[in-house]
Amino acid sequence: MMNREDIEAVKALLTSPKKIVVLPHRNQDGDSMGSTLGLYHFLTQLNHGVTVISPNEFADFLKWMPDSDKVMLFEENPKNCEPKLQEADIIFTLDFNALHRTGDLFGSYLQQLDKTFIMIDHHQLPDSYARYMYSDTAMSSTCEMVYHFIHQLGMEQLINTKVATCLYTGIVTDTGSFRFSSTTGTTHRVAADLIDKGINNAEIHTNLFDTSSYDRMQLLGKALQNMQLMPEYKTSYITLTQAELDAHNHQKGDTEGFVNYGLTIDGIDFTAIFIENKAEGIIKISFRSQNSFDVNQFARTYFNGGGHINAAGGRSTETMEETVSRFVKIVKEIKK
Ligand code: 5GP
Ligand code: MN
Repeated sequence: MMNREDIEAVKALLTSPKKIVVLPHRNQDGDSMGSTLGLYHFLTQLNHGVTVISPNEFADFLKWMPDSDKVMLFEENPKNCEPKLQEADIIFTLDFNALHRTGDLFGSYLQQLDKTFIMIDHHQLPDSYARYMYSDTAMSSTCEMVYHFIHQLGMEQLINTKVATCLYTGIVTDTGSFRFSSTTGTTHRVAADLIDKGINNAEIHTNLFDTSSYDRMQLLGKALQNMQLMPEYKTSYITLTQAELDAHNHQKGDTEGFVNYGLTIDGIDFTAIFIENKAEGIIKISFRSQNSFDVNQFARTYFNGGGHINAAGGRSTETMEETVSRFVKIVKEIKK
C-alpha cells in the first residue's frame, strides 16, 4: 500500500485536471505496458490530459492492447515527446526503480526535469527521485499495484474493461501465468475481480502467447539446442548470437520467455540467456532462479543490472565468448 499521507496528497493532486505523462521502462514487457496503459485508461476518465511515452519501440505481441497505438516513442521521436514532458504537472514512472532504466539518454533527460514524480514499482532497491513512492518488492507485478492504488484512491468504480484488460495482462505476464512464487492469494483475487469486469481473459492469453511466427519457433529450437548445462552447479544457460537471430528473421519480442526453459530441467535452480545485440553493442542477459538464489544481487554485482530475487537482467559490452566465459567462471566460484 502507498502510505496514507502520500495517497491523500496524490488524491488531492488528481482532483483538478492535470497534464500527466506516464512512463514505462525501456524494452517494454507486458507488465510495463499493462500498468502504463491501465493507469492511462483510469486517469483519462478523471479528465486529465494523459500521455504515455515509451522510451523505445515495443514488441508486436503488445500491440493489440487498447490505445497502444497512441503511445509515443521517445527514442524514435524525441521532438514530439519533449514538449509533453516539459508541460507535465505530474510524471508517473511505472515498473522501474531507477531513471536510467528508461535508457541512458532519456534517463539523464528526466533527471534534470523539475517535476512531481510518482513511482509505482516492485523492483528491489528503488532510487529516491520520486516525490511520492509506492514501492513493494513483494508484489507480483506493477499491474497488481496499480489495482491496489486505484482502490486506495477509492475510485475502483473506474476500473472498466479497458483498465482491467491492461492490468490483467501485466499480472499474467509477470507471474508466468500465475506460476511464479510471487503469485499470492491476493493476486488471484485481483485477477478474479478483473475477470468479473467483463474482460476476455482467454483472448488476452491468446494475444500474448499464441501469436508466434514460424521463424520464432525455429529460433526457439535453436536456443534450446544451444543450451548448456553445468549440473554440478545446478546451472544452465542459453546463447543466441546476432547471426543466429538474423538467420531466423528476428523481430523485437521474439525471445520473450526463452530464458524460462533453462529452469525446466530437473536439478537446475539458476539459468541465464545471453542475447547479442550488435546495434547496441551489447550482450543483453536475463537471469532466472528458483528458491533463494538472489539473481538481483548477482546481476547487480557482476553484470551491471538488477531486478527481482528470482528474475533479473543485465548487460555486457564484451564479446559473447568473453561474457559467457566470465559467467561460467563466476558461477564456479560462487556456487561451489
Ligand atoms: P528480463 O530478463 O525479462 O529482461 O527482466 C527481468 C527483470 O529484471 C524485469 O523485472 C526487468 O525489469 C529487470 N531488468 C532487466 N534488465 C535489467 C537491467 O539491466 N537493470 C535492472 N536494474 N533491471 C533489469
Ligand atoms: Mn514488472
